Amino acid sequence: MKTYTYQMKTGIVRTPEFERKGLATHGVNVGLKCGHECTYCSTPTMIRAHKAFKNLGLSAFNTGYAVIDTDTPRRVARDARHTKNRGIVQLCTISDAWSPEAQEYNLGHKCLEAILSEPGWMVRVLTKNTAVEKDFDVISKYRDRVLLGLSITATLDKAGIISITEPNASPIPERLRVMQKAKAEGLRTYAMLCPLLPGIADSPEQIEELVKTAVDFDAEEIFAEAVNPRGRGLILTQQALERAGFHNEAKAVEAIRSQVNWSQYVARLISNLQQSVRKHSDIKKLRFLLYPKGLEVCDLEVIKQDDAGVVWL
Ligand code: SF4
Repeated sequence: MKTYTYQMKTGIVRTPEFERKGLATHGVNVGLKCGHECTYCSTPTMIRAHKAFKNLGLSAFNTGYAVIDTDTPRRVARDARHTKNRGIVQLCTISDAWSPEAQEYNLGHKCLEAILSEPGWMVRVLTKNTAVEKDFDVISKYRDRVLLGLSITATLDKAGIISITEPNASPIPERLRVMQKAKAEGLRTYAMLCPLLPGIADSPEQIEELVKTAVDFDAEEIFAEAVNPRGRGLILTQQALERAGFHNEAKAVEAIRSQVNWSQYVARLISNLQQSVRKHSDIKKLRFLLYPKGLEVCDLEVIKQDDAGVVWL
């Protein structure tokens, strides 16, 4: 993995989209291309026209490299000090502050310190890397002001498949261990079940187990989302699964590239999540992030009849 550094301009920025999602009022990003290289990642599609890629002579969709900004903590500290209307900062929204390249420069730790040393801020940590465990000292120091979530994208028996779709992220058993440790240390946690890929993490039994896991680590909220169908994420995921010999899972991903099937998959996900959360937790804790564009009218109607826990975007 080659790491490029690129100086960005922003520190802490307002993010109306994440505010609508109920995740955060502000966001911080430590880079433009995350070395975890999840096959379904939507960041390359969102920022493919960024001039950083032109300068590097690379496509945002190429693999084998990461782009980070080692100067991020300085701008974050500046904004943390000078911003008047403070709120919840998501660390990060389009990259991962504990990815291997971010770890090299201790960016997650430095950003946490920079934000939390100023009063009035909260931080929502979202990562797929257990390196965040090394920063439990900072999180613990400000424990009331930090919400911790390691994405849980499948049950333990599917950990091998997830190592194909999230090749450089921490293994699922390790993520679960760190969430349990967070609970044991009295840290505040939330669940991020996203994305729940078809054929891998969308059956009623799998969802039941994921929800029970979230309840086990005392998640204050349970966020969940379908895989984003825009851009090249689905085809890249399908191809990676195919290459690794997971033919059934590849077929399930291929199937939802059709709008009708994607729509049915989303409606089923919502219904299964509602059922499991009602059974094992409190439906008020469910936050299914739903972009209704792309849903078939019949599925939309079904979802509207019972949209408990759905966050319409
Ligand atoms: S961890 Fe997040 S930002 Fe990084 S590649 Fe995966 S989906 Fe993209």
